[in-house]
Amino acid sequence: MVDGAAGAGDGSAGGGRSGSDLPVELFHRALVGPSLRPASGDIARTPFRGQIRRVSGRRSLGGKRGQPAIDEIVFDLPDGRAAAFGPPDRGETGTLVFLSQIPRGTFTKPGSDEDMCPICLAVPAALKKEHVPNGSLGGSHMTYTCEPCNNGLGSKVEAALQDWFDHAITASFEHDGEVLGRRRVLKIYFRRNEDTGAFALVVDGDVTPDVEQILGSPEFRMRYQEAQQRACGIALLKHAYLAACLFLRSVPDHPEARVMRADLIAARDAPKGQAPASDAAAALKVYRSHVGRQGPPLALVAQQAEDGAAPTFLISLAGVLFVSWPFADLPPGAWQRLRQDAGDDTEEEASA
Ligand SMILES: [Zn+2]
Repeated sequence: MVDGAAGAGDGSAGGGRSGSDLPVELFHRALVGPSLRPASGDIARTPFRGQIRRVSGRRSLGGKRGQPAIDEIVFDLPDGRAAAFGPPDRGETGTLVFLSQIPRGTFTKPGSDEDMCPICLAVPAALKKEHVPNGSLGGSHMTYTCEPCNNGLGSKVEAALQDWFDHAITASFEHDGEVLGRRRVLKIYFRRNEDTGAFALVVDGDVTPDVEQILGSPEFRMRYQEAQQRACGIALLKHAYLAACLFLRSVPDHPEARVMRADLIAARDAPKGQAPASDAAAALKVYRSHVGRQGPPLALVAQQAEDGAAPTFLISLAGVLFVSWPFADLPPGAWQRLRQDAGDDTEEEASA
């Protein structure tokens, strides 16, 4: 268990990097929530006491002190052994080719010089700073959106994306048939030991004595909710759409873009927890990294395919999330940049 006094994360940054490659580890091909089914029923009933040796995770924005969203946690156990718990499931690893940085920008209403919201195309009196991706995921201030789009999507879908990214679940506990009140719903990071399959439930924030008692008892029941898949998809669609607009330096007016805006506005206006279905969001490919933020705040990257198949163009969101370019028309100039890159270091492939 970790309380607010746990050390700040070390950021788990990788070593020095050079050239145009972005050697990320790519995990999770799809939006897959953590599975809480342990290999054996006994695993869930083996609480242990230990000292935290090390916690790694992303830092809070701006380097402020705070709870790291835990990526890996290492305990020193009473018997002298150490036990490391990391992400519950890992996917395959790959390398992305860095193509170009996507700059910060603003958008003006066509035929005027008024700033508009690139999501709903309104021209409000005041626009708010928009972070792409969420600031809590390491995103930077990249453009401006209107207050309803900024607040509505921020609270309704971006929190779900963060929980998915962190393998966080919200849980309530039952003990001896007694249900703890609503105030006892906790955010919990779900982590697993890769060697033994044992899992750790790392509580976010303060652990009150009654919760501690329950978690330390031989048996308890936990009800949990995984991050909402639809909301995650909408959040990724928003970031992919805004990053694509920034790359294009304009807000596209084709039918595809109109459908995306309509989906984002529908999610903005829906009650919390009821994000509507979006084909555009469901079509996005998404990868994530477990190695910490790297590269520029926003970038166009490519995933080289095996066997000569067409590459996939993706947007790097703060170097921690990678989402496919959202439009059917490929990003202008991306192919040329990719060919130049291939010509620089793999000549036989370039001529194939
Ligand atoms: Zn708006």
